[in-house]
Amino acid sequence: MEFNKTLRPGITQQYRGRFAPSPSGFLHFGSLIAALASYLDAKHNNGQWLVRIEDIDPPREKKGASAEILKTLDAYGLHWDEEVLYQSQQSALYQAVLAELAQQKSSYYCRCTRAQIKAIGGIYLGHCRDIEQPQNNSAIRVINRFGVSQYNDLIQGQVNCNAALAKEDFIVLRKDGLFAYQLAVVVDDIYQNISHVIRGCDLLEPTARQLSFYQTLQKLPPQHGHFPLAVTEKGFKLSKQNNAPEIDKSSPVPSLFSALTFLGQQPNDELLDASVDELLHWAISHWSISQVPKSQEIVL
Ligand code: GLU
Ligand code: ZN
Repeated sequence: MEFNKTLRPGITQQYRGRFAPSPSGFLHFGSLIAALASYLDAKHNNGQWLVRIEDIDPPREKKGASAEILKTLDAYGLHWDEEVLYQSQQSALYQAVLAELAQQKSSYYCRCTRAQIKAIGGIYLGHCRDIEQPQNNSAIRVINRFGVSQYNDLIQGQVNCNAALAKEDFIVLRKDGLFAYQLAVVVDDIYQNISHVIRGCDLLEPTARQLSFYQTLQKLPPQHGHFPLAVTEKGFKLSKQNNAPEIDKSSPVPSLFSALTFLGQQPNDELLDASVDELLHWAISHWSISQVPKSQEIVL
């Protein structure tokens, strides 16, 4: 099977972590936390840390963001171990996985609109599973045979997701022809042999779908750890969408120090006078994932 040839087998014993930003904006404090937490967990465990640019959504891409994100990581001393992988270069692999899913009768075309799904309560109930749909102007959904709704998280402990949502057949190819995040993220985490995924709590629910998808693809999933999100004064998640400010490339130490504090690592104030490398060196050796808080109403 072509797809099994292309995808390398699931998990390896060696720790391999990653940071996977979307270039829809520059790095802000929230994405610095994601980069730092995944980096420290990898390095503390003598692992590799990879960077993957998730550029599968050109309409939402900000010009120059990919290069700027990499420059900022570099200025922050967060050096990646292998060549950066760009999802825009992975289309052939995603297509091969879609072909395999179709061949296994694990996917189907769907033309339902958001409004139609909303009208039946917001959860897609597999309406198009047995209806022959034209290929154009259709999304492709994967049959969610496993419906994983619980998992063990390295930071959150046992996570229970909304079962109806977790069972939903989810979209792997969008109606506009773009590959869906769920498809690309799982295929690439398998392709890059990722063993640990450390990221923000906004992805707690999608993780359940991803775990089902690993089963569909007959691959072992990585371990997941989700840290709390940094929020603004008004309680909004810091994100590119609500224009969180770009972090300052010229003075990394204070931002790294704040990110460490946010992650419960209690750096000593003296480290504010340290160099980036000294600070990271301290952070790698003192990193303790069990100190990362499960939730945090931090106001920035
Ligand atoms: N690219 C996603 C984002 O920037 C993160 C994906 C992930 O870590 O799985 O939100
Ligand atoms: Zn449908």
